[in-house]
Amino acid sequence: MSATCTVRQRRSPPGKVRNGDGVKIACKARNHGLCSYEELPEWQRDNDKILRGYVRETRSLMKCVKSLFYFHNESVNIYTHLIPGGTYLALLIFFTDFVLIPQFPSTSMSDYIMINFFLLGAFLCLMCSSCFHCMKQHSEAHSDAWSKVDYMGIIVLISCSMVSLLYYGFHDYLFHFKLFTIVVVVLGSVCAAFVLNDRFNAKNWRAFRAAFFVLFGFSGVVPIVTGLVKFGIEESCKRVQLRFVLWEALFYIVGAVVYGLRLPEALLPGKFDFVGHSHQLFHVLVVCGSICHFRALIGSYFFLHTGLSTSNLLNLKVLA
Ligand SMILES: [Zn+2]
Repeated sequence: MSATCTVRQRRSPPGKVRNGDGVKIACKARNHGLCSYEELPEWQRDNDKILRGYVRETRSLMKCVKSLFYFHNESVNIYTHLIPGGTYLALLIFFTDFVLIPQFPSTSMSDYIMINFFLLGAFLCLMCSSCFHCMKQHSEAHSDAWSKVDYMGIIVLISCSMVSLLYYGFHDYLFHFKLFTIVVVVLGSVCAAFVLNDRFNAKNWRAFRAAFFVLFGFSGVVPIVTGLVKFGIEESCKRVQLRFVLWEALFYIVGAVVYGLRLPEALLPGKFDFVGHSHQLFHVLVVCGSICHFRALIGSYFFLHTGLSTSNLLNLKVLA
């Protein structure tokens, strides 16, 4: 952190510092040498609607880790995925073995793999994202590398989500399950190739890359429509818990729109620097979407093992 940065911040008009999150945050920001958008090196400039609270290029892994312990404009981004990521890890370790299997002795190895497959994907995605937001201030090279890790995490989450739900949708139609799973793997691999190729990492590819991710996500519509045609609405609703899948899709779509349009900071630049900017909202909506997916999987699992609809889910003592 340069002395110039601190001096410039002290010279900032009081009105500018005091808006948004208040004097306390602004004072803490100064204590930790946070800087403004204008004071960032070119490579760190991404969103000109977020004016304050940046951790300037650290060139130190330890300083990046230490940034976990004070408040800056990436803190909410880090913790909105770190805490749910840790929760998914706990579920991955304990949920099937200590909750589902005792409740349903009929749990098969396929159930075991599919539920944990999703939990693993959710854990990896959220942890990769947290690491990216913590380490991106190291240097341009580190930021680019961690950005790839972040995107790979999203691909893993989408893939694990789709395959786990395909299993419950087509557990007794293995050809369909296999076919759609191959489509997921192919599209996921294409997305990964886009992410890992540096050419697509440039800012002018941002919209294109985002569009391809949306296409990957929307490819899930095909098996859903297939299921509706094959089983009808009522059966499909029970098999894959369509209500929660639609909620999940809604959360992801709204998240992508908010992220793409940079809302709300595009309307009120500088007012959401620390809390409430588009990337944070996107993170929260991704977590909400993943929770809906987990709920859909549990409902599907319940239906497969009991033949009952999810209205009976709450009667389960473990899920009550
Ligand atoms: Zn993020």
